[in-house]
Amino acid sequence: MRFRSGVAVDLGTVNTLVWVAGRGLVLEEPSAIAIDAETGAVEAVGTAADVLTDKEPRGVEVIHPLRDGVIADLDASVAMLHGFLRRALGTRLRPARIVVCVPGGATYVERRSVIAAVQARRPRYKSSLVDEPVAAAAGAGLDLSGGAGGFVVDVGGGTTEIAAVAGWRVVRAESLRVAGNAMDDAIVRRAREEIGLILSHRAARQLKMTLGLTGGDEGWAETVGIDAGSRAPRVERVGGDLVASAIEPLVSQMGAAVRELISEIPPGLAEDVVRGKIRLSGGGALLSGFADRIEAAAGLGAVVVEDPLRCVVRGAAMMVDRRRASLLA
Ligand code: ADP
Ligand code: MG
Repeated sequence: MRFRSGVAVDLGTVNTLVWVAGRGLVLEEPSAIAIDAETGAVEAVGTAADVLTDKEPRGVEVIHPLRDGVIADLDASVAMLHGFLRRALGTRLRPARIVVCVPGGATYVERRSVIAAVQARRPRYKSSLVDEPVAAAAGAGLDLSGGAGGFVVDVGGGTTEIAAVAGWRVVRAESLRVAGNAMDDAIVRRAREEIGLILSHRAARQLKMTLGLTGGDEGWAETVGIDAGSRAPRVERVGGDLVASAIEPLVSQMGAAVRELISEIPPGLAEDVVRGKIRLSGGGALLSGFADRIEAAAGLGAVVVEDPLRCVVRGAAMMVDRRRASLLA
């Protein structure tokens, strides 16, 4: 097999996934790295680093080196990416080529910095970039051959990528810097204002995942934070309405952006989009009630893809297989 050692990487703001030809998905970890504040040595990457977030251990800095889908801290990104690649590939496997996903709206400089991160430690790795919406569409099961296309909305941690694609290319795209992390922030703010409770981002994220827009099974969930007055830890039952009203404005914004981009698709793509429905991918697509909201805003069917957290890497893997990535480098 010629492309045995092809590798696909979804370097997300919140999660990084690595797929290796012949092995499949081999790594799935938070995009985080913990650095010894004094020596600069890497203490941990991935889950082991992310669990320290918001806990503020002395002498350790936890960095999430991507922001809004692009590299915000190059040194930390290099250390994290190569930590992951070492873990995913071992010491013996030399990838022939690495395909890395970038947001459709990434600038030239942002794209260059991803290539620089790959090649910083491995100058001979051949890397190419794939636009995330195209990877998402392929991973969502849309057939992009022969110029066919569709419409995808990928809600990640930092950005929501909204795009019409056709024939392995982006046709129209819009990237909103509003996604899962902004929802967590909104819940943190609302809990403090409404019930005087200071939450960690992790706790806010858990509430979002349990309650979403619909309140989940119970309509409430238990959480633990710090009382804003007494500064003592406090256990609290949080109602679904608090979470829903905190994230509502963000979901509205996403719906409006979807509606706007739908109004810009060329007539030749209309049938593909209607028949294929709007495909929702990324972790944010799992928000309960989200698909209904997008459907209502767009006036078109919307479905959450299978296994939305892995949709982009699945599509990128298909592109490694078909050698399509170089087309989009
Ligand atoms: P990225 O590509 O930016 O790394 P992901 O596609 O991995 O992002 O999605 C991560 C985001 O999805 C996080 O903000 C996370 O809180 C959110 N998420 C994961 N599961 C759920 C869920 N069940 N409900 C709502 N949001 C979720
Ligand atoms: Mg993503």
